[in-house]
Formats: sequence, structure tokens, C-alpha cells
Amino acid sequence: MEKDGIAHVVVGLPLKTVFSYKIPERLVPFIQKGMRVLVPFGPRRITGYVVETTNEIDSEYENKLKEIINVLDKAPVISLRLMDLTRWIADYYLAPWGEVIKTALPKSMERLKPKYEKHLSLIKNFTENDIKKKFSRSQKQQQVIRILLTGETSYKELGREIKSLSSVVNTLHKSGIIRIIRKEVGRNPLSNVEEEKSQKIPKTLNTEQFKTFKKISIGINEQKHKVYLLHGITGSGKTEIYMQNISETLSQGKEVIYLVPEIAITPQLIQRLKSRFGDKVALLHSTLSDGERYDEWRRIRSGQAKVAVGPRSAIFAPFANLGMIVVDEEHEYSYKQDESPCYHARDVAIKLGEISEAIVILGSATPSLESYNQAKKGKYVYLTLPNRVGNQRLPEIDIVDMRVKNTDIPKRAVISRILREEIENCLVKNEQVFLFLNRRGTASFLQCRECGYTFYCQNCSVSLTFHFAEKLNRCHYCDYHVKVPNTCPECKGIKINFSGIGTQKVEEDCYRLFPNARVLRMDRDSTRTKHAYHNIFKKIEKREVDILIGTQMIAKGHDFPFVTLVGVVAADLSLNIPDFRSGERTFQLITQVAGRSGRGNLLGKAVVQTYNPNNDIIKHSKNYDYENFAAREIDWRERLGYPPYTKMVGIKLKSVNEEAVKKIAVQFGKSLKKITAKQSKGKSKYPAVDFLGPAKSLLYKIKNVYRWQIILKGPASNPLKEIVQEMKTEFTGSLLKKAKVKVKYDIDPINLM
Ligand code: ADP
Ligand code: ZN
Repeated sequence: MEKDGIAHVVVGLPLKTVFSYKIPERLVPFIQKGMRVLVPFGPRRITGYVVETTNEIDSEYENKLKEIINVLDKAPVISLRLMDLTRWIADYYLAPWGEVIKTALPKSMERLKPKYEKHLSLIKNFTENDIKKKFSRSQKQQQVIRILLTGETSYKELGREIKSLSSVVNTLHKSGIIRIIRKEVGRNPLSNVEEEKSQKIPKTLNTEQFKTFKKISIGINEQKHKVYLLHGITGSGKTEIYMQNISETLSQGKEVIYLVPEIAITPQLIQRLKSRFGDKVALLHSTLSDGERYDEWRRIRSGQAKVAVGPRSAIFAPFANLGMIVVDEEHEYSYKQDESPCYHARDVAIKLGEISEAIVILGSATPSLESYNQAKKGKYVYLTLPNRVGNQRLPEIDIVDMRVKNTDIPKRAVISRILREEIENCLVKNEQVFLFLNRRGTASFLQCRECGYTFYCQNCSVSLTFHFAEKLNRCHYCDYHVKVPNTCPECKGIKINFSGIGTQKVEEDCYRLFPNARVLRMDRDSTRTKHAYHNIFKKIEKREVDILIGTQMIAKGHDFPFVTLVGVVAADLSLNIPDFRSGERTFQLITQVAGRSGRGNLLGKAVVQTYNPNNDIIKHSKNYDYENFAAREIDWRERLGYPPYTKMVGIKLKSVNEEAVKKIAVQFGKSLKKITAKQSKGKSKYPAVDFLGPAKSLLYKIKNVYRWQIILKGPASNPLKEIVQEMKTEFTGSLLKKAKVKVKYDIDPINLM
């Protein structure tokens, strides 16, 4: 067969084009689809990815083609399946294919080389008598041989025992006594994770767990793509089920990807997986060194590792025989990448499952409404675990009314009397307390202290943000704005206040109220270093902390048997985030944070402080009533036209030049108006498509960059994408570059701040 002479190449730049290059004669035998190549690109040489090889090209073109300079791989690094997956991501998320491939491969692959180490071993064995006789003149030689008799040993290790080793080794090597082996060093990030005996052996599943396990088992045996939504409360034994289904998958010779929202907060999970599956586990995540990551990637590719654990990018683990994907805590926002390609790892997982004929398990105590809706429609198999293992009770949740009329609240206090008494109770019994505060508390909203009233946008039903400079309440979806009344529209009260407290304020109060307690604060500031999490968790485990104050980070992933009280200091902070998902977010937070309490033999409790005690979301979370929460929320979203009932695209504009980005944002608005009104055969070309904005983003200025946004929404994806294509042709890359404005089209946006 004649070999192909032309390669289609994509590059890791924000360019949609697939480029054609001529394959020079000398490279023809080596170049294959899926390899990286070095190509001339303008004045530069860059890495490209071969996505196709062919012989067909217009003959008039052929002479103009540039030649590939070199090939960078001996074998394809992009499997056919990964080729399909990245292609789909590029199409769905409107991202350049080359950029997606770049994201899918380990960073700086080209610069990394495997690391080698010298090892020594004996060619033949000696008895102690032989040693004494043959090597009587050198104590050092005797020493080396005695050590090597215990087995192959690295040069480095021997060097620690024996001084000036090299001459000894040289002599022994020359006389044919030992052999020197060059061995690759695996930089294994899991090497210092201790295995735990109690987790080595599978647990005997209880009846509920067993039923669930069996249902998934059927899917594993059918070896067909299927999606399961496992809705199980915290501590219901989901992880144990995943692990047993993983064993089953492995025993069929298949591999598993296990996605977690954030690796740093899941040390206990990593330990459990390592204990159960040993060296078959590979860890892929962003804080590994490039070397470690590359080595783990190769362990997966070579088939040594069978279970890849990691955050969203682990979905690109290069397995050849994938059987199952677990998406743990599938509702978490960190599965969505905020920069291009703006992919959602859960949705990519489902696509990958489809491509690989693998099953996908989405697990959560509080499924996202998107997934829940799919399950209700019968697209996913819905599985529930409504009870904790061992029938341990869920902690009771107390709602504390923080409104002024409630005399239980000391003036200007962050901690109510009820919460304070509960904390004191705990401290007396030498148990531990978690106090939780929403990190996004920086969004400033106004609230009536007397009745809890907050201001909502009449168009979008998200809460309005107060702007100090203009003294206006603004919607950052549609830019609706109003003056703030002097009295509360609900109760005519006059105490309309600005809300916002930080973890520091809570910390101060704790020191004041509980002078003898050991208080620790954990937030982005106090956990900058790699090991900070680990250290804090060790301290809690050793019971060197009585009260831990923290943000979202403390909400998940851990079992601390002596934490028996969890306080949500200000539920309103999350309830009033100006985002249509704030209700969902609040329900997830409250039920999840409460779940941190009472994980051991002791009964747990949770206290939630709020100015909105009658809010439906708060009421449903008090009862852990997911069904009713979801029914209400889905109904609300349907009426207001939010996902899962509509599709959205976030158009995000930014620039260091405040005027420039405003100007372009306004032009975008005008142009969108024209496009959405466009007629075709007397009918609107894009019926039911709507857009909100342009409006300043909630976080308008970040690091001196000014941000605007537009939300495009409609009943289906395709018309929205067509509109985006029209926008892209009108506002071309070069036009935007000239205006110094950057635009990002975010499909299915999660972050609309
Ligand atoms: P989830 O993932 O739903 O939060 P886990 O799988 O972590 O639940 O289970 C909670 C705790 O119960 C863990 O400590 C786990 O080891 C233990 N566990 C799970 N299943 C069983 C079982 N069948 N028998 C005994 N202990 C179990
Ligand atoms: Zn609005």
C-alpha cells in the first residue's frame, strides 16, 4: 500500500483551522495519525497533532504546502478514541481542536524524559565462606556482596552504606561478579500514602448496598454504555459500592477512571483506593510535578495502572480498555473548566462512556438538577440509598432565626445564643465543632434585618447586588437597576443593612466567646501551601483543634469521628448569591455540611443561622428533603426558563481597558438583537432565543481587568451555537485583538459571576 504523503495537523493555539503539511520522504514511514510533529508556523516552529494522513490534495496546492520538520513520537500518543473525544469536545464547546488535544495530553510532555537509576545485582550467589575466602583483601567488597545477597539494590542506596563505592563497583563489575542495570525510576505520587488494613478487604454490603451493587453489576456484565445516577446520602456507603464494582470491572480486564472534584480534599479516599487496589491506582492531578504526572500518565498507557483517580482532567487518562467511569460528587462545580476549552468533565465522561461502551456512575448526596432531570426522564438509571450504613441517624438540623425581632440574638453577634450553647456543650464533652461560612460572602447584597427581605431582579429572579458608588441595586444578568428604598417593601422596617462577614470575624467571636478553646481557621489564605490541608486535617484527627472555621473546603470528603456539631454561620450568604443556582447551591451546602457531623459513634447535630427561616430551600434542607426541594426548584426553573429547561451560552468579555470592553459589549448587544430578530421566510430565524445583558459582571474588576457578560438562552443548543458562529464572523479575532478585548463563549456556563 502506498503511504500517505499529506498530514492534516491541528495546533495548540486558539485557531479553528486544520492545516495541511507535506510529509517529507524520509518521514513517510514513521508518521501516523495521533502523533505529535514539529511544523513550521509563520516564522515559528511549533508542535502540531496529526489528525489525519491522506494522499488526496489538489495538485495545484501540493507545491505550496510546507513540510513537516520532524516527528516527536515513536508511537501515536492520541488514541483513536481520544481523537473522537477531543473532536466532540471541540465541536460541542466551540473550542479549537488542537487546544483540546493540548489540554488532554500531560503538560510539557516534550521536555520530559523518563528518569533512570543504576541498580546492582549479583551474577552468582556466594556462601559466607566463599566471601571470606575470595574477597579477603577488601572489607568493602565483602560488604557490597553481603548487601546484594539480600537482592537487587540501587546504587544510591548502597552509596549511603559504603564510602567511595564507585571503585569497588568497578572492580566487581570488571571481574564479572555483579551486573549493573539501568532502571527507570517511577516518580510515584502515591508512594508515601500508607495503606490501611481495615480498608484492604471488601466490606460485606448491607441489603440496600447490595441491591445497588447488583444493578451496576448487570451493566458491567453487559459491557454496554449506560449511565447510573447513584443518589445516596452522605455515609450511605457509595464509595464502598464503587470500589466493589471497580474490582469487578478490573477482573474483566478493563480499566476505570475515578473523577473527584478536588484531589487535595480527598486524602481519605486516595488512601482507601490505594489500600484496596495497591499499585494499580494512578493519581493524576495538577499539583503533581510535571515529572510525576508524566510518569503516572505512562503507567496508565502501558497498562500497569488500572484505576486513574483525579480531578476533571483525569478524564483524559489514556486507557485502552475502559470499562467504567465514576464521577464522585457529580454536582460539584469544579468539574467545569473556566478557561477554554470550557468543558464539563461530567458531560465529557458521559460522552467518553458512549464512545468506549463503558458504564458511567454519577454519584452524589445532592445530585445536580441537570442529572436528576435526566434520571427522571429515564435517560439514566436512578439508584438511591436513603440510609446511612449501620442505620446511623443523620444529624438533626436546627434553624436559627437571626431577624431582629428574635431576642435570642445578641447585638451585632455573628453567633446566636443557640449556636453558642451548642458549641459550649460540645467543648465540655471534649468533642469538636466545624463552623462553616460561605466563601463567596463578598458579593454585597442588602437585607432587611427585621424580616429578612432581600431584593430580586424582576426579570431574572436573581438577587440584586448593591453598588456603593452609585447607591443602586443592580442585576448583573440583565443590568436592571433601581434605587434602594429607605424602608423595607415587605415590613416597612428601616434596618436595611449590608450583609457580609468573613471568617476572620467569626474567628474573633470564637476567641471572645470561648477563650479556652483551640480555634483554627481554614480558608484560601491559610491553605496556600501544598501541605496545609494535610496538616490541618492531621491536627483535627489528633484532636488538637476544638473549633475549625472554614469555607466550602471543609464541607466534604472527611470522616472525623469526634466532630459532633456543625454550624452554618450565615446561610443567607449563599442563598443570596446572584445566580439562578443559588437555591440549589444552598441546599447542597447545608445538607452536605451537616453530613460532616456525627460520622463516628457519636450523634451529630447541625445549626443553621439565617434571616430567611421560612424560605423553602432552608425548610427542605432542614428535613434533607431532596425530592421536594428538587420538585420546587425544577418547577421554578421551568417557569423562568433556566437550565435544565433551557440551554445557555455565557458570552464573557474582558479587557484592561474599561472603555474598550464596554464599547464592544454594547456592540455585541446590538448585534445580538439584530440576529435574534432576523426573519427567515416571514418567521423569526431563531424563535424562542433570548439574551440577557450586556451587563457588568458581578466581579466587575479582577486584577485590573474589566469584565462584562451576556447570557444567551434558548430551548436547544444548536440555534445558540449558530448564533455564536454568526457573532464570531462579525467580531473576528483580529477585530477583537485590535480593540484589545478578549471574548469567551462559555457553553453550559456554571460560573456567571
Ligand atoms: P459514602 O461514600 O456514601 O459517604 P462510604 O462508602 O464512605 O459512604 O461509607 C461510610 C463509612 O461506612 C465508611 O467508613 C465505610 O468504610 C463504611 N462502610 C461502608 N459500607 C460498609 C459496610 N457494608 N459495612 C461496614 N462498613 C461500611
Ligand atoms: Zn435581571
